[in-house]
Amino acid sequence: MQSFLRLHDGALQPPSAPRCAETPRLPTLTSSPTLRQPLILPLQSLLQARAPRQLDWSAGEMNEDGKRHETATIKSHNDTETPNPIPFYLLHVSALAAIFTGVHAADLWLCLGLYLLRMFGVTAGYHRYFAHKSFKTSRVFQFILAFIAQTSAQRGVLWWASHHRNHHRFSDTAQDVHSPARTSFWYAHFGWVIDPKNHETDYDGIADFTKYPELVWLERNPYLPPVLLGIVVWLFAGWSGLVVGYVWSLIACYHATFCINSLAHVHGRQRFVTGDHSRNNWMLAIATMGEGWHNNHHAFPNAARQGFKWWEFDLSFLILRILSWFGIVWDLRHPPKEMVQGIHLPGPALMEKAAHQLLQDFADRLAKAREGWRVPTVEELRAIAIRNMPKNPHLDAILARAEELASEWMPAWLAQQTARQPG
Ligand SMILES: [Zn+2]
Ligand SMILES: [Zn+2]
Repeated sequence: MQSFLRLHDGALQPPSAPRCAETPRLPTLTSSPTLRQPLILPLQSLLQARAPRQLDWSAGEMNEDGKRHETATIKSHNDTETPNPIPFYLLHVSALAAIFTGVHAADLWLCLGLYLLRMFGVTAGYHRYFAHKSFKTSRVFQFILAFIAQTSAQRGVLWWASHHRNHHRFSDTAQDVHSPARTSFWYAHFGWVIDPKNHETDYDGIADFTKYPELVWLERNPYLPPVLLGIVVWLFAGWSGLVVGYVWSLIACYHATFCINSLAHVHGRQRFVTGDHSRNNWMLAIATMGEGWHNNHHAFPNAARQGFKWWEFDLSFLILRILSWFGIVWDLRHPPKEMVQGIHLPGPALMEKAAHQLLQDFADRLAKAREGWRVPTVEELRAIAIRNMPKNPHLDAILARAEELASEWMPAWLAQQTARQPG
């Protein structure tokens, strides 16, 4: 069986050319102007992605049978530019303008209302509809969803959804641009969003929506919805409405969304073996209208609901269900019953991914402890599995595959490293 693994050490490259190299490109999305380096450098150390580890493994995309697709890595066209966090920090400072405008009860209600509206746009729009197609709707409501989503100023809907699809393909591997396991926590939280190397939209990865010219138009004007919303808020609620209602809800929506990429891959519990570090976290689920059930979501990404149990509060799904009663959305997808009951058998692709995760966790442990590289014993892999994976009846099969992969790839990698040693 041909392995889907590639050692990510610069010598063994992914087999296919970067997909974006042949992607027809629309006009580049706006990127922030670069400020003077001396000012930026101290701030940047916060965001810096960790250098790729030599022992890093890259997983290719797999189909349902566990066979490896030709993979494509989203690569930068402007790798030399560096992330500039200043505008993002200035936005946070602008929230302090409330000292001058005052904070009224009506502004706080407006803030809550706009937070819920924007968060619904993020969860039901960007995420569950455009990235995962977990329900169906009309072309008109599809546009409305995209517009609402973009009022949260998280770039175009096609950009957001295509990047998110790659997150699921490569979650917590070197090709995942916002994995806290592979980069620094702050880079996974928001650094990747402002990093110019991630500003391209992978149009091939979202071809199912590029056929709608109105969505492409929105993509080309990503900040039109938030600017229009800001003008309306200012006209009807004045300066305090703009600062407290608009800016505070914008910042809250940013961090709630970013927490799913950062915290929801670090803190919480795993119910399902997903081959990544996704977690269920009830506090995040409340704050993000249901997105905190992130391990559930990684287990069945195409479900419109992310809270699988009755007590797993998922406000976005409740709203979608109400919308379905009026025929605004329909065909909401549900997770398979066997999965919710915990008797779902993982397919070959998932087993492969889980085996890969074990090897990656082993490599990370060696890198952390600065131990020499070696092929892991099955006992070492089992200890990692017990610590990092939820209990599952398929552990022995996952361990066997991990052992097989290790023996297939590590000797070649070791030989390469030895050949590279000076002298
Ligand atoms: Zn995730
Ligand atoms: Zn997702």
